[in-house]
Amino acid sequence: MKTEERTYFIRTFGCQMNEHDSERLAGMLEAEGYMPASGAEDATVVLFNTCCIRENADTRLYGNLGHVKSIKDRQPGKKIVVAGCLAQKDRSLIQEKAPYVDVVLGTHNLSSLPRLLREADEAPSFEILEQTETFPSALPTKRNSPWHAWVSISIGCNNSCTFCIVPAVRGREESRRMGDIVHEVESLVSDGVVEVTLLGQNVNSYGRDLDGTPMFSKLLYALNDVAGLKRVRFTSPHPKDFRADSVRAMAECEVVCEHIHLPVQSGSDRLLKRMKRAYTQERYLEKVRMVRRAIPEVAITTDIIVGFPGETEADFEQTLAVVAEVRFDGAYTFQYSPRPMTAAAGMADHLPKEVVQERYDRLLELQEEIGVERNARHLGATEELLVEGSSRKDPERLTGRTRTNKLVHFPNDGSAEGTFRSVKITATRPHYLEGEVTVQGAATAAPRSRLSLPLMAAASSGCSTCS
Ligand code: SF4
Repeated sequence: MKTEERTYFIRTFGCQMNEHDSERLAGMLEAEGYMPASGAEDATVVLFNTCCIRENADTRLYGNLGHVKSIKDRQPGKKIVVAGCLAQKDRSLIQEKAPYVDVVLGTHNLSSLPRLLREADEAPSFEILEQTETFPSALPTKRNSPWHAWVSISIGCNNSCTFCIVPAVRGREESRRMGDIVHEVESLVSDGVVEVTLLGQNVNSYGRDLDGTPMFSKLLYALNDVAGLKRVRFTSPHPKDFRADSVRAMAECEVVCEHIHLPVQSGSDRLLKRMKRAYTQERYLEKVRMVRRAIPEVAITTDIIVGFPGETEADFEQTLAVVAEVRFDGAYTFQYSPRPMTAAAGMADHLPKEVVQERYDRLLELQEEIGVERNARHLGATEELLVEGSSRKDPERLTGRTRTNKLVHFPNDGSAEGTFRSVKITATRPHYLEGEVTVQGAATAAPRSRLSLPLMAAASSGCSTCS
């Protein structure tokens, strides 16, 4: 590391919201003249953007900090920054445990990074606020992709799911003005972006704090009118707030992809109540039926927690029943672990590890079977792919995603990242598809195309960021 250079390296933990924040942190550093470094060894500023959702997040952070400290001992000018959710939760504890950390900032004051770094030239600086100072989207950004962008539509959450720490570290829900979002997307498109993912802890309640009623469907219609925008995704809707107007907007807006991540968490009404999810199994299934009626080819993915405190075998079987009925295209499955500052952590009846593991294995087995079946539906279909680049395992192949968010590998025909290809699906695997390009030549920015699925044995009918 040359001492006169100002360089940075950011390590991001956690969800897409943190990825989005890291792009802003990088943008601010570059606006201050810092250049990206390839690793902690080469950087004058090493920043950890932290998450506190996962178990042992703090153990992992302090392990990483210890490693960077050993580099800093050899390179005294190096600055170490801890930002994000764990910083918001642990506050001064970070500097007590790791006094060599130069800057600590929370989730509400990303914009303070340049000032705090300057202050840290004199002494370690620490700032945690209780309310958002500047909406992160208003800050400079350094995007990781030229063709895809995360667009934050709201921050914070007004729900109180008993397993979740997000409201404690991200605060109350705050929506961005629709005009600001549309303007940001227009300028992203003029920079070459073709796909945006709208981010919010609960996207379907977007706008309630602005005008008293949710405006998510209006936002989708407004984005549908942005010339040059090809795909819109969003994460995550809360099932209780996912309503007919949003489904109609999904069905009617050409740019909105046929995929929804609808976290169910449990199939048991008793547990859903303990989790404070504000819906029942039947209400959840109604939402699934509603979206499948409007968009028959929609892919549905979910989050499921196994072994929530007090979960009985009968409760778990209700979860299996929902999985069997909905036939999810994919599921993020979690073994419950208590998180500090959550109501569930204080519940009495935590389950033995072996019980949770046994249930988890059964759930995984069922979902694997269903995943295979759901992917098999695509065999022989022609799909519009957005090319994401070379396959990580095989540079002879490219990787792209369908509108339904399926990963497809296909022979490398020289297609550039961010272009569209029409691909025929030739093989299906449990977690991805394989295909062949059907139209050679110039990249296409294809309009919305419903899947052309061959006739097949009927599949049964039917919250990261987090919901
Ligand atoms: S799980 Fe999602 S909806 Fe529930 S409290 Fe956490 S952020 Fe809010």
